[in-house]
Amino acid sequence: EKFKDGLSKTRSQFTSKVNDLVAKYRKVDEDFFEELEDLLLQADVGVETVMDLMDALRFEVQRKNIKDTAGIQSVISEKLVEIYESGEDEFIGLLIQETGLTVILFVGVNGVGKTTTIGKLAHRLKEQGKTVMLAAGDTFRAGAIEQLQVWGDRVGVDVIKQNEGSDPAAVMYDAVRAAKSRGVDILICDTAGRLQNKVNLMNELQKVHRVIEREVPGAPHEVLLALDATTGQNALIQAQAFKEATNVTGIVLTKLDGTAKGGIVLAIRNKLHIPVKFVGLGEKMDDLQPFDTEKYVYGLFA
Ligand code: GDP
Repeated sequence: EKFKDGLSKTRSQFTSKVNDLVAKYRKVDEDFFEELEDLLLQADVGVETVMDLMDALRFEVQRKNIKDTAGIQSVISEKLVEIYESGEDEFIGLLIQETGLTVILFVGVNGVGKTTTIGKLAHRLKEQGKTVMLAAGDTFRAGAIEQLQVWGDRVGVDVIKQNEGSDPAAVMYDAVRAAKSRGVDILICDTAGRLQNKVNLMNELQKVHRVIEREVPGAPHEVLLALDATTGQNALIQAQAFKEATNVTGIVLTKLDGTAKGGIVLAIRNKLHIPVKFVGLGEKMDDLQPFDTEKYVYGLFA
C-alpha cells in the first residue's frame, strides 16, 4: 500500500496517459509505438531502457500476433520487469553480518535526503531488533551534525559526533571504536556530499573507507548512494560520479513520492547496474521501503 501511495504521482500521470493512448489508437501500429516511446521518455525511464523495452515489445507483439492495444499494459509491465531483472543479482537486501559489526556508509550530494534516509533506515533496522548507532561524518555542511542528532533522538539510537569542521575520518574512527565496544550490530555513517570538487570527495571517501576497513576487516559492508528521484536524469550523472569515487553497492532513491517521473528507477538500474535497494516514499520515519521490481512496475498500472 505504501508503495502504491508513493507512486501515485507517477501512476496518475504516466498510467493515465498510457490508458489514453490505448483508447486513442485501438490498433498496435508504428504511430502507437512512437507515442508510447515518448511517454516512457517523459517518465524518465531513460533512452537506453526505452529502446530495450520497445524492441522487446515489438518482438512480443509480433510473436503473439497482438493486433489491438487492449491489454497491452500488461505486456508492457511484463517486459519492464524482465528488462529490469535481467542480469541482476536476485538478492537486493542489505548485507548484514551474522555476527559482529556491520558498517553501512552513506554517500550522496547535499539535499538529496541522505540524513532523512539514515534516520529512516536506523528506525527500520531497530524495528527488526538490531542495535544501531549513527556516525556524523558530514562535518562540512552547517547543521548536518545537529540534524543527524535530531534523527538519532527521534529513533532512539546513539550518535557519535565531533565538532563541525573536524576530520571525518577521525569521527569514523571514534564511531567504529564505540560501536565495537558497545557491541552494536549496525553502524550507519553519514558523509559530506560535495560533488563540486571530485578529487576532494574521492580523497575524503577513500580516507574514511580506509579507517573503517582498518578497524573492521571487510567493512564497509554496504556503500549506499542516496539519489533524489525528482532530479531525473541528473541523478544518473551523480551516480556516475560517485561510482567513480567509491565502490557503491546500492542505491536509495528518495522522494519517489514527489515525482511523476518514477521511471528513473529503471534507468538507474539498467544503465549503472547498481541495485536500487530502498526507495523513499515520504518524509516520515516509516516512509522507507525495500525496492521490489514487481510491486513497482505493476504498481504503475494498478
Ligand atoms: P541531505 O542534505 O541529503 O541530508 O537531505 P535531508 O535528509 O536533509 O533531506 C532534504 C529534504 O528532503 C528534507 O526536507 C526531507 O524531509 C526531504 N525528504 C527526504 N526524503 C524524502 C522522501 O522520500 N520523500 C519526500 N517527500 N521528502 C523527502
